[in-house]
Amino acid sequence: MKAIAAFPKTKEVKLIDHPEPMISRPTDVKIKMINVGVCGTDREIWEFKYGTPPPGSDYLITGHESVGQIIEIGKGVTQVKVGDFVGPTVRRGCPENCMACQQMRQDFCYTGHFTERGIKGAHGYMTEYVVDDEKYMNVVPPELKESAVLLEPLTIAEKALMQVYTIQARLPWECRLEKSGANKTCHNAIVLGAGPVGLLGAMALRLLNMDVHVVARQPGPNPKATLAAMIGASYRSSTSETPADIARSMENVDLIFEATGAAKASFDFLQVLGTNGIFIFTGVPAPMNDITLDAGALMRDIVLGNQVVLGTVNAPKIAFENGLRDLQEFQKRWPEALKSLITGYLPLDNFRDTVDRANRDEIKTVLTIN
Ligand code: BGC
Repeated sequence: MKAIAAFPKTKEVKLIDHPEPMISRPTDVKIKMINVGVCGTDREIWEFKYGTPPPGSDYLITGHESVGQIIEIGKGVTQVKVGDFVGPTVRRGCPENCMACQQMRQDFCYTGHFTERGIKGAHGYMTEYVVDDEKYMNVVPPELKESAVLLEPLTIAEKALMQVYTIQARLPWECRLEKSGANKTCHNAIVLGAGPVGLLGAMALRLLNMDVHVVARQPGPNPKATLAAMIGASYRSSTSETPADIARSMENVDLIFEATGAAKASFDFLQVLGTNGIFIFTGVPAPMNDITLDAGALMRDIVLGNQVVLGTVNAPKIAFENGLRDLQEFQKRWPEALKSLITGYLPLDNFRDTVDRANRDEIKTVLTIN
């Protein structure tokens, strides 16, 4: 079967022929892949900055944002059936089966010996068929079949929000806890970055009635600004406004959701986080050492402002379930915005066209497989 693979030794990325996987355990399911999203991590793997092939293999099949359809199930499968559309999770537990992995919370793996499909030590989803255990499947309602390729990037925000709820329960945070359907907003959020993770995060924050400001470099008007407007968020360009300007327009910056991987811009915004605020890092920056900042001022603000700085990676099954519920709601409230997140479809064979990032209006490119 066809697959997109990265060969770290020879620094090649190409369409290959890979043996079709077979069901071998009673709880295995076989999935026919339909759509796979391309993200920054995939591009970094294609540039050999990241990614590890499975042991004994020269190559890594890439892709971790996917939706497929179950075509065959093992004898012991009880949770899913043939014909179900599914969005599989990404991370698999460590061989030591640490405390977190034992509890299916490999997103918090202690040993670091986890694998990630399409990223670290396990083949991914940019291929025709995949076999995996039923416990990693998330059943996608048929009406979400098209948008479910956005589920995995959305889970980054969903896992972050689960933690925000737990952490902010340390203080009076009531209006965020009750999702009143009213028009009034409660709490102010800045989203750094207008890529898929940022925009999906902005949508999830809007469902919580937050006043959301999406900050990106590119000046508006542009398609990302239009999308922000559709969901009732404002779009601010960091080329025309400083972090202080943006913060000044809000009563208190309660939450900052970083989805850029840009360290300098992130630390600039950390300095305008408000009282009792929470700053969430999700991006993984390339190594850099050109940042100077007033660490004393930052430390003083964190202490005197009761602030939290949170790093979060990957997502558990429950974040996928919450994500499916939110996708359903996005579809109901903002069908056009949801659709406009996917800016292009390409057949698997043409994956090379996605390497070209010249198009600044690109949000999510999806590879179509079956
Ligand atoms: C994926 C995560 C993964 C992370 C680090 C992200 O692109 O969405 O599932 O844990 O990369 O490898």
